[in-house]
Amino acid sequence: MPFADILGHNRIIEVLRRSLRCGKTAHSYLFEGVPGSGRKKTALALIQALFCTALPDDACGICSSCRKIESGNHPDIHLIAPLPDKRDISIDQLREMQHVLSLRPYESPRKACIIDPAERMSVGAANSLLKTLEEPPGDALIILLTENAGMLLPTVRSRCQLIRFAPLSPEHVLTLLERSGMTPEAAALVAPMSGGSLQRALELDNESLSARREAVLIRVSQLNIHHIATVFDAAEELSGNRDATLELLDMLLSFFRDAVHLGAGSGEIVNRSVRPAIESIATRRSFPSNLELLERIYETRRDVQRNANPKLALDHLFMIMAK
Ligand SMILES: [Zn+2]
Repeated sequence: MPFADILGHNRIIEVLRRSLRCGKTAHSYLFEGVPGSGRKKTALALIQALFCTALPDDACGICSSCRKIESGNHPDIHLIAPLPDKRDISIDQLREMQHVLSLRPYESPRKACIIDPAERMSVGAANSLLKTLEEPPGDALIILLTENAGMLLPTVRSRCQLIRFAPLSPEHVLTLLERSGMTPEAAALVAPMSGGSLQRALELDNESLSARREAVLIRVSQLNIHHIATVFDAAEELSGNRDATLELLDMLLSFFRDAVHLGAGSGEIVNRSVRPAIESIATRRSFPSNLELLERIYETRRDVQRNANPKLALDHLFMIMAK
């Protein structure tokens, strides 16, 4: 894929393209970031650009090399991962890889290899990699992917150029989900809860999220300051551990953003299948009150993230929402 298809990592891509143009790519890279943040896509895009016969610093998508990489069967690219049913990447796998890298490339000027996840290399495997990282046979390019560079041997880390991938923004996850064919509504439901990982977003259970959304909307519609039990019952039912509470707050943010959109006269909302419930949130209060409430939810989310007690934080927020 061309670099332009990778979202959210413009600075990294700029650096990689500059090194491609100068012919100064590193021998060994260490890409650190949460799985699903775009590390592997970027690794493949870098290799594709390096092998492309038409462009100096990107993939043309048309030449034979680009097309083979796109279809996943380029003979000079090797992916090393734990074998099925094995926890670790073994020393035997690494030895075989070193042997393969020492052979002449079939089509490209050099070979390339991605090791994923690098932290699963056994100590023996990692040690056997040290010399290869320093002087890759046949000028091969080696890219290690890891969730946490701190889990690798310092001797491995120091031999690679470290590149850190930040988690994706919810907006970028949303775009990628829609590109993958998910409906905008389902994407809007899971993107805020993905932690910046496309992989996690795809794994989230749409059905249970959707059931939870219904439950949240019902509780929110019942909040009534004259019946204080509605406040505490809602907080009791909907708060959970920190992660569950953050997930709930992300959901509330998504509802109130929609309500504010409606209040501002825009018909476009992401929670389309529950539009009547969103409309009743929008009309229950004035537009400025809904804006203020949106800000309160953001604040509550920050507090919970900073270790506030989830149940107490929700008691407080629901009390305001009940007015
Ligand atoms: Zn090409």
